[in-house]
Amino acid sequence: MKVMKFGGTSVGRPERMHHIASLVTKETEPTIVVLSALSGTTNALVEIGNNIARGDREGARETIAKLEAHYRAFVSELVKSDEAVAKAQQIIDDHFEFLTIILRISFSEALSKDILAQGELLSTKLFSVYLEEQGIPHTLLPALEFMTIDSYDEPQIGSIKVKLSQQLEQHKDKKLFITQGYICRNAKGEVDNLKRGGSDYSASLIAAAINASACEIWTDIDGMHNNDPRIVKKTVPVEQLSFEEAAELAYFGAKILHPASIWPAQQYSIPVKLLNTMQPDAKGTLITANAASVGVKAVAAKDNIIAIRIKSSRMLLAYGFLRKIFEVFEKYRTPIDMITTSEVAVSVTIDSSAFLKDIIKELEPFGSVEVDEGQSIISVVGNEISQTSDIIKRLFGSILNIPIRMVSYGGSPHNISLLVPAAQKDQILQQLNKGMFGLE
Ligand code: ASP
Ligand code: MG
Repeated sequence: MKVMKFGGTSVGRPERMHHIASLVTKETEPTIVVLSALSGTTNALVEIGNNIARGDREGARETIAKLEAHYRAFVSELVKSDEAVAKAQQIIDDHFEFLTIILRISFSEALSKDILAQGELLSTKLFSVYLEEQGIPHTLLPALEFMTIDSYDEPQIGSIKVKLSQQLEQHKDKKLFITQGYICRNAKGEVDNLKRGGSDYSASLIAAAINASACEIWTDIDGMHNNDPRIVKKTVPVEQLSFEEAAELAYFGAKILHPASIWPAQQYSIPVKLLNTMQPDAKGTLITANAASVGVKAVAAKDNIIAIRIKSSRMLLAYGFLRKIFEVFEKYRTPIDMITTSEVAVSVTIDSSAFLKDIIKELEPFGSVEVDEGQSIISVVGNEISQTSDIIKRLFGSILNIPIRMVSYGGSPHNISLLVPAAQKDQILQQLNKGMFGLE
């Protein structure tokens, strides 16, 4: 079996849904299709939840009405037969009635998760109606029956496997399955989700659970590129990456793949393919256990980074100092991305300011604390890059004009990270494109 996941833009227009139906029916292998919500839907659902949380029911009502109109227009082009139109309209009736009822209930975290789940439920049900109209045999698998997370919000492949196998067992004769990305049930049995962009994660968890031959992530670009195509004019897709390289790139800014989606595929050795819905024959990017070649493959940037420097002469020759500092971040559940140290100071970066004030307050007893907001991490990713001759020269040589706040080298053989002012990020990516890849 294989898994094919389609993102929001791949299902965001009726003609695109028609197109992906033709892609999934080309398959000879049994396939589980994982769908995101139509593009824009999850953002609208977040807004509805926020409105309700703020007590702005009128705002919520407006957003719901706008979203409903969008879906009505969508199905009018998605399906043609009276029967299919009636079915699709009924699905919209049900889900929007649910959202309207929610307006009368007092807000809770669990309720907001119920709201967020509507997007993937709608997209998969509407796709199913279209497939049915086309006479394409398939089964809709409810993700809420098999995709679960534990009390630490961690999915457990073992239990997903048991539950999913039970579902598949009931439809042995079928070859095409459709299910929701993103949504799941938590340890309390409530509807929950795998966080924004989590449909990729769903796909790779499912692929691991069924030991799939491949996990295909279909988006609107032909694979992971060597640089950020939104910023740099000339970028090229990277044909092959190792899981480690892909994880670094996904974590440090390449928007195409949810970073968490790497580990299930890696642990169960499932090849991941990044493919383009609009250009199905393009090679895309293949991610497997081996890196095809030595050297730099890509650069990526992550924004909204905050650097914190803690300076103290007490750090000199002391042990246990770093532990105490890290404990502060642990207490506030704030992950650290980069670390650099000198004998009397340590600099770390974080990407969330949610607890910044508390963190600073608790760090102050350890020494002087300096905070620089508005930074970006530029990550240079490849295989055994430290062994690549003249890499350092090429890297720094191409950005001689840039003030660099931190450098992290040697943490992994696949990554060199630089912390730079966010305002200079675009320029750096452009200069690196020329200096590292010879692309202009
Ligand atoms: N629909 C969800 C989101 O927009 C999940 C996904 O698309 O991956 O975040
Ligand atoms: Mg995505």
